[in-house]
Amino acid sequence: MEKWKKILRDALHDPAELAERFQLSADELRKVGKVFPFRIPRPVLERIGSPGDPLFLQCVPDGRELTASGDLLDDPLGEVRFGKEECIVQKYPDRCLFLVSGECAMYCRFCTRKRKFRAPFRVGKKQIDEGLAYIRAHKELRDVLISGGDPFLLDDDRIEYILKGVRAAEHIRIIRIGTRTPAMLPERITVRLVRMLKKYHPLYVNVHFNHPAELTGPAIKALNRLAEAGIPLGSQTVLLKGVNDDPEVMRELMWKLLEARVKPYYIFQCDLIYGTEHFRTPLSKGIEIVKALRGWSSGMANPHFVIDLPRGGGKVPLVPDYLVKAEGRFRTYCNYCGEEYLYPDLDDTPGKD
Ligand SMILES: *Cc1c(COP(=O)(O)O)cnc(C)c1O
Ligand code: SF4
Repeated sequence: MEKWKKILRDALHDPAELAERFQLSADELRKVGKVFPFRIPRPVLERIGSPGDPLFLQCVPDGRELTASGDLLDDPLGEVRFGKEECIVQKYPDRCLFLVSGECAMYCRFCTRKRKFRAPFRVGKKQIDEGLAYIRAHKELRDVLISGGDPFLLDDDRIEYILKGVRAAEHIRIIRIGTRTPAMLPERITVRLVRMLKKYHPLYVNVHFNHPAELTGPAIKALNRLAEAGIPLGSQTVLLKGVNDDPEVMRELMWKLLEARVKPYYIFQCDLIYGTEHFRTPLSKGIEIVKALRGWSSGMANPHFVIDLPRGGGKVPLVPDYLVKAEGRFRTYCNYCGEEYLYPDLDDTPGKD
C-alpha cells in the first residue's frame, strides 16, 4: 500500500478519541460529525498545538456548525442551479468546474461544498463519463477546472483517465486541478503521480493554504516536486476569522507561498455556507488585508480578494478605493502610504476627440 493511502486509512475520525485528546464533548463531535464528517490525518493532528489554534479551527468540528443563521445557505454558490451534469458546473462562457471526487484528506469545517459531503457524494465512472461527454460536446469551453472534493484523493489511474478524457477534447486549451493535498496530505504528491501529470500539459495546479504554518517541510517538498514537473502553481486562501484575518499573518502566508514557487491567486471571502457563521469576517477585513499587501509587498504577493456571489453570480473582485477626488479630467489618487498624487486623464467626454 502506498504511504499516502496508509495515512488516510489511519486518519482520525473517531469522536471519542478526538474528544479525549482535546477535552471536548464526544457527544457534540458525534452530532456535528453526522452532519458533516471529519477526518484528520495523523501528521496534521500532531501539528495542532492547542484548541482554538488556526489548524484546530479548520479541522475540528464545532457545535456552532449546527446553528443556522438568516444569511447562510445550503448551496451558496447556486451550484445546483448551474449544475449541468451531476459533476459539471458551468457559470462562465469559456470554462467549467468538473467535480470528480467526493473525498478530501481533511474535511475543512468551512467547506463550500458541505452540502455535497452531507449526502455522501460518490463520483463513479458513470458520472465521470457524463462529464467528459459534456466537455466534448461544449466547444465553447477552453479551460476545465478539475475539482471536488479533492481530485488527488483518486488513484493515479483514475486521474489519468480523466486527464486523457479532457485532453481528447481538442477545444480544451488548458486544464487546471484544484487540490489541498500539498497542505494536508503532502505524501500524495508522489514521483509517480507527477510523472503522469506532466504528460497532460498545459496543466496548472491550484493549491489551498490558509495559514503560514501549513507550509511545512513536506508541503514545500510536494510543491517543489510539482513545480519541477513544469506545473505552474497558484493558490487559494479562504479568509477565516481566528485563522488568518490578520494582515501580518496573510503577508507571511503570501511570502511563504511565493518562496515555495506558488503564485497567490485568490483570497476568498468565506462563502455563506450553513453553519460557518463563526468563521465570517466583514468585507472591510478583506479590504484592510488587500490594502496592507498592495505596495507594502511585491505585486507577486498580491492575490485578488473575491466574493463568490450567492446564487451563482460568480466571482467579483473587491478592491480598495484609491480615488480621492475627480475634478474635470484630473484625478487625485492616494498611494499605498496615504500620500496624494494628481493624474491628468484624457478627456473622454462624448463628442470630444
Ligand atoms: C471559480 C470558478 C471557476 C474558475 O474561475 P476563474 O476565475 O477562472 O479561476 C470556473 N467555474 C466556476 C463555476 C467557478 O466557481
Ligand atoms: S479541501 Fe476543499 S473541498 Fe475539501 S473540505 Fe477543504 S475546502 Fe472543502
